[in-house]
Amino acid sequence: MGLYSTIYDDLFCIYGDLRWWPADSRDEVVIGAILTQNTSWNNVEKAISRLKENGLMTLADISRCDRQKLAEIIRPAGFYNQKADRLISISRSVVERFGSIENIKDLQTAISFFSGLKGIGQETLDSILLYALDFPVFVIDRYTKRFIERCYGITGENIKRDVEEEINDVRRLKNLHAMIVQISKDHCRKVPECEGCPLNNRCIYFLHGKQQGAIMHDKDR
Ligand code: SF4
Repeated sequence: MGLYSTIYDDLFCIYGDLRWWPADSRDEVVIGAILTQNTSWNNVEKAISRLKENGLMTLADISRCDRQKLAEIIRPAGFYNQKADRLISISRSVVERFGSIENIKDLQTAISFFSGLKGIGQETLDSILLYALDFPVFVIDRYTKRFIERCYGITGENIKRDVEEEINDVRRLKNLHAMIVQISKDHCRKVPECEGCPLNNRCIYFLHGKQQGAIMHDKDR
């Protein structure tokens, strides 16, 4: 069994299938991926709830929405003026080019289209590709880097490539990322709470890191 399958199984024993991303549609995933930039998921949920109350949960709806009205509705997500601009711009681009996000069927087309839009960085791009469009990509964010580095001693730029080479099942890629985010919130925080962590019996950072200097690039130490 490959390393990332082992990581998956280690986490699955703790969390099972987390069924992330919590959204009713592909459009809602895209909207959430923009809203979650630089804020907590709790704030995103408040903003999405307000969008639903105002009947604005499709990209087509948002593409036609007044910018000031949208900014006020999504205020709980923070950076609301900037995010309103981005949401309207991205929504219009999707609607004009494809009609609907459902019509994006090719990975390379999706990558070149979304990466060319203002406000779509690598993490947002990967989240849209995986969770909204069901393409087999892995989302690298600060949680995945920190957890994999600490617990398994893996550093470097190749984590994303290596995960995608080993795991190509979309559902497992989604759940692997979701489980890493969850353990990062529960235990493997910026200052890790190792004593209660269910993985401390196999974690390099906990068992050997400080003594042997096994984690060479941990920015949080
Ligand atoms: S034991 Fe500590 S460092 Fe290791 S995964 Fe758990 S919280 Fe993170």
